[in-house]
Amino acid sequence: MGLKVCKFGGTSMANAENFGKVKDIILSNPERKFVVVSAPGKRDKTDIKITDMLYKCYDDVVKKGSCHDTFKLIRDRFTGIVKDLNLDMDIEAVLDETEKAIDSEVSSPDFAASRGEYLSARIMANYLGFEFVDAAELIRFDSRGNLNAIYTDDKIKAKLEDKEYVVIPGFYGKNSAGKIKTFSRGGSDITGSIIAKGVGAELYENWTDVSGFSVCDPRIIPDAKIIDSLTYTELRELSYMGASVLHAEAIFPLISTKMPINIRNTFRPQDKGTMIVPTGCGTSADKVITGIAGKKNFSVIYIEKSLMNNEVGFVRKVLSVIEHHGICVEHLPSGIDTLSVVVSSEELKDGVLTDIVNEIRETVAPDYVHVLENVALIATVGHGMARRSGTAARIFKALADANINIKLIDQGSSEQNIIIGVANTDYEKCIDCIYTEFFRK
Ligand code: ASP
Repeated sequence: MGLKVCKFGGTSMANAENFGKVKDIILSNPERKFVVVSAPGKRDKTDIKITDMLYKCYDDVVKKGSCHDTFKLIRDRFTGIVKDLNLDMDIEAVLDETEKAIDSEVSSPDFAASRGEYLSARIMANYLGFEFVDAAELIRFDSRGNLNAIYTDDKIKAKLEDKEYVVIPGFYGKNSAGKIKTFSRGGSDITGSIIAKGVGAELYENWTDVSGFSVCDPRIIPDAKIIDSLTYTELRELSYMGASVLHAEAIFPLISTKMPINIRNTFRPQDKGTMIVPTGCGTSADKVITGIAGKKNFSVIYIEKSLMNNEVGFVRKVLSVIEHHGICVEHLPSGIDTLSVVVSSEELKDGVLTDIVNEIRETVAPDYVHVLENVALIATVGHGMARRSGTAARIFKALADANINIKLIDQGSSEQNIIIGVANTDYEKCIDCIYTEFFRK
């Protein structure tokens, strides 16, 4: 095997005991040379994540001119970890400097939020005896807030080339004006991918608090099986539809490298976890379905017009109406004389839906327009179904037997994904039926 980049999430960094588990994992394999860490997460259900407290610090500065009271809670968490680990480190001095910077005019929500990862990495580097390298020196955003991938890659190569055994904070970098900028929430997963690409790792290990991706949401099926391997494309489809173990954007930096990602559990390091492999590498041959994911609360704008298929520009005109309202189209199932536009109901606040329907009537003069609300979408994803017949039949039969009415069907052209729409109230039952059909028989 070769070089590994390991990213540890918030639960793995939540307290001194968990820092100890991380250390055991790192030291058990000398190939684990580059470590990316999140800020300490929740210790139990009632706890507050450090990142959330840091955003509150920034709000306090705006409202009250000081974050002192909220920062005290953060200070206690970090000093507690350093004390419990018995580290020789002047954490109070680092915390004083951090509090001052959040209070100062150089601060911003991104700067405040980034300090959780910064402090976490400083402590972990000290604890492991590794070198600390600040993500601000490695990760660069452009003036529009997008990652400058080429610049970043060059920086990582230049700064880390001759280094071994390094800890890097996740979640943030610097923009071209020199200001700290974060990724979206959960973004340390993206940092891990970027570092793994930059240092030419052989494997990106993403250590979290579950033993990999479950076939479906364990809140619905508590004993759902763990997926042993899935492709980048399957991951993308499942993440888009709500599976949330890994940040949905974390695969993008790795696509060109074809590097696998291994999701592992810090609290059960003996488990193999889920391996995410490049599309084309395949998953096990006998597997039809890899995973089931879904989301509630979609609205379906159903449009009917005779001879719609002969009308040049019909779909474009309908989509322009939606675009003018700045709304994303999620799916677009169509028939010969029918078109359904599926959008997230959250985007349709304050009478927007009425405006859209009226504008569609004006623009394309349909015979009939109707809006279906409270629709849940469920994606059944599997690289294996592209080569087999009968998968859709099994899904539909299982749902018919359970008396679940299907309101919409959409199959992606990759043939790796069948999406069905059902009433929100049938969502859990529908996932249970599909899981039973493919994994309990
Ligand atoms: N700490 C950040 C968050 O809570 C980033 C991360 O953990 O990946 O979103």
